[in-house]
Amino acid sequence: MGKTIIISNRLPVQLQIHNGSITATPSVGGLATGMKSVHKGGESLWIGWSGLTDEEIPQILAPAIDNALKEQGCAKVKLTQNDIDGYYFGFSNRTIWPLFHYFLEYSEFELNFWESYKSVNQKFADAIIEQSDEDDIIWVHDYQLMLVPQLVKEKRPNASIGFFLHIPFPSYEIFRTLPWRQELLQGLLGADLIGFHTYDYERHFLSSVRRLLGLEVSFNDIYLENRTIKVDSFPMGIDYKKFSESAQLHDANKKDKRSDFQKRLDQHKESSPDTKLIVSIDRLDYSKGIAKRINAFEYFLNKYPEYKEKVRLIILAVPSRSNVPQYQLLKREVDELVGRINGELSTVNWTPIWYFYRSLPFENLIDLYTSSDIAWLTPLRDGMNLVAKEYIATRTDKTGVLILSEMAGSAYEMNEALLINPNNFEQQADTLKMAITMPVEEQIRRNTLLQNRLSRYNVETWANHFMETLVNQKNGNNDFV
Ligand code: UDP
Repeated sequence: MGKTIIISNRLPVQLQIHNGSITATPSVGGLATGMKSVHKGGESLWIGWSGLTDEEIPQILAPAIDNALKEQGCAKVKLTQNDIDGYYFGFSNRTIWPLFHYFLEYSEFELNFWESYKSVNQKFADAIIEQSDEDDIIWVHDYQLMLVPQLVKEKRPNASIGFFLHIPFPSYEIFRTLPWRQELLQGLLGADLIGFHTYDYERHFLSSVRRLLGLEVSFNDIYLENRTIKVDSFPMGIDYKKFSESAQLHDANKKDKRSDFQKRLDQHKESSPDTKLIVSIDRLDYSKGIAKRINAFEYFLNKYPEYKEKVRLIILAVPSRSNVPQYQLLKREVDELVGRINGELSTVNWTPIWYFYRSLPFENLIDLYTSSDIAWLTPLRDGMNLVAKEYIATRTDKTGVLILSEMAGSAYEMNEALLINPNNFEQQADTLKMAITMPVEEQIRRNTLLQNRLSRYNVETWANHFMETLVNQKNGNNDFV
């Protein structure tokens, strides 16, 4: 068995160039954490884009950057600004992202974007081929790199190649509208194992493979002439310990050690002890249903006016892809909605919505999770939704209510949450009322089950499960030949 190579659009490292010197800081995102057990020591390599385009890297610093990355077990794929515009902001985020989240009307079928996607996928594949040996294990991540498995398989037929999609795979009826549907499927079929978050995404993919390529599919195996491809679901978990332990530390902190943000939240709680805090946290993305949620909140306050001044909605919207026009429109829509509703409903003592358009440091994220009585997450489509899992992990005393859209991948594993259809305002208003009045014993009963499940299938278990399945699949195929 050779080394392990992980490939994702972005490397798990933040590069900074300051006065001619370079720092490479490991990032702390979910994927980077999950991969810790896979990406360790000198036995593995992570290949991806560094976050800096060729134009931004002074020629003279290029070797030093490569060295700094090497120390972190990373190697970069060189991309120009043109590549990023066409492949990332273009095809990935203006074609695939909307289509796979069922926003067909937002999806742009631009030949230029597609050409750029193909050429950048080839650049990734070239980097892998250059760095890999015949018997390596190669794990490709996500929708930006769907052509990579096949491009690598052609040159490295004996390597084990896995692919994991972190977003939904849409139903055949949606997927078939894509002009390059066959090419994308062929690209993925270079892998020996293809993983999805849920069984439904897996089913949709298999159905597209059968109907668009006419291949033989049996249960979750796709039969090619000389090998089989396994397709399976691996719901991604969180770093449960990190969230639960940070929440325990947070609870233990004396008042004077608390963050300024927490002190503000505490002041609020002290001044209105019977007001419930409802939190929602998402990137500002149309798939997250933020505008609908705000409208549903207004509907709730009108249907149950007795809760005016008794609830407050905190919206944390993290800036995202702000050079894509749909995201700019959404930003304006949310700004206006919050302004209108606060303008119409606020009283001297009460502002119904606190709206933060920024990202928060981890410490303040824990402040928000632990201070909120209810988390209300209403994506219209979401591959997984890790925020739902993080909220539950921080509830050290097991109180708190999670209201979660049934359109989120995480809903499949979180049956004890209050599951809602984000388009149904009536149901959401009633569910909010139910959450506000839910007896503590019931909250504890539900959250105990959720916490047990989430702590068992954490992000490390997820990564190891995928890797084990990939290795077994490859061994099975060797027997086959
Ligand atoms: N998050 C963050 N900073 C913030 C707010 C959220 O890093 O200010 C994190 C959050 O902890 C979660 C991730 O962003 O891990 C969002 O993941 P999710 O699966 O919910 O949605 P995605 O953004 O991947 O669509």
